[in-house]
Amino acid sequence: MTLDHSMSTALPILPSDPAASRGASPVTENLLDLAPDAALTRLQGWLGERGEPAYRAAQIFARLWARPVRGFDEITELPKALREALGESFHLSRLTLSTRQRSNDGTEKFLFCMHDGQLIETVAIPDGDRLTLCISSQAGCALQCAFCATGAMGFQRNLLPSEIAGQVRELRLLDPPLLPTNIVFMGMGEPMMNWKGVDPTLSLLNDPRALGIGARHITISTVGVLPGIIALSERPEQFRLAISIHAPSDELRKTLMPVNTKYPLAEVIAAAATFDRRVTFEYVMLGGVNDQAVHATQLAQLARECRAFVNLIPLHPGGSMGFTPSPAPVIATFARALRARGVETAVRRSRGLDIAAACGQLRTERLGRRVPVATEIDGQIDEA
Ligand code: SAH
Repeated sequence: MTLDHSMSTALPILPSDPAASRGASPVTENLLDLAPDAALTRLQGWLGERGEPAYRAAQIFARLWARPVRGFDEITELPKALREALGESFHLSRLTLSTRQRSNDGTEKFLFCMHDGQLIETVAIPDGDRLTLCISSQAGCALQCAFCATGAMGFQRNLLPSEIAGQVRELRLLDPPLLPTNIVFMGMGEPMMNWKGVDPTLSLLNDPRALGIGARHITISTVGVLPGIIALSERPEQFRLAISIHAPSDELRKTLMPVNTKYPLAEVIAAAATFDRRVTFEYVMLGGVNDQAVHATQLAQLARECRAFVNLIPLHPGGSMGFTPSPAPVIATFARALRARGVETAVRRSRGLDIAAACGQLRTERLGRRVPVATEIDGQIDEA
């Protein structure tokens, strides 16, 4: 399938050199990197030192995420001197919108440029009353799943909370604003290999004083990084867990997902079985590779072991490196075989086909294939 850009609107917003519009990076503390309680404590301390009333902390915090501002000068409910003092001690980082593309089906894709020139993708998927935002947790990815465009670009760096939750914040700052009802960590990167960034981000997304999105409407998707699954299960909120299974045997899975060597299927399934909430299996349908009857039988067995719900995902063909999507009738037969074995199964629709909306595809299109900075799984990556 070729990408049809005549059907979509691409709005280049930046000059070709993103560095030109960046300026020097500020040296003050970025309030957007702090989880809600930490930010409020920090603000209370700072206000106390200045003899300002403590209630101002909540007032300022409300303008970081819930009713976001572009800069402190926009918090007009504060005295001007206080706004100026805030600007001398802190800053609010922004992500620069580099490209915005709209698909025929209403899906929108955003390419954001970070302060260091790294590019990340965010996809907004409308569906009836819902607006699901697919966010990135890393620039690039170390995992090298064979069918994934992000894997092909290699790992660049972890994102900070201000850059992960910042994707939601930036869309709220648009005119008109986009207000997501659901969040999925299914953009670029492996969230469980950036738990240090993802953990406070979950609080920012969920806390009613910040972005206020219900925990059941926030899904973290992982290849099965076990320490991350444990860390997520230890949080009290009802965040949802999705596991990218993609192959029902170690033999096949390790050819598609090198991470299977470190976290073999049996351990991932055992972790899913002990997770105290219902888990979803993601299973991308690769024509002639993992879509046969035997795979359905094996997958049903795994799903039953941990009472998982299965999402069958048609392969998004852009940049899919030699794989072809399973034909629709093959997917339907596969779904029937799972359901016949008592496994709840949904077949996902591919969205944004005309705008390269799958993981990593837009950045790849923009930059070409880059030599990765680091690709080792254990190296510079901050695991849970
Ligand atoms: N690293 C995490 C989250 C990011 S990818 C994970 O792997 O779960 C989100 C989902 O998109 C994963 O299930 C991934 O396997 C899938 N994906 C990647 N490339 C795809 C493509 N071309 N078509 C369909 N799904 C794809």
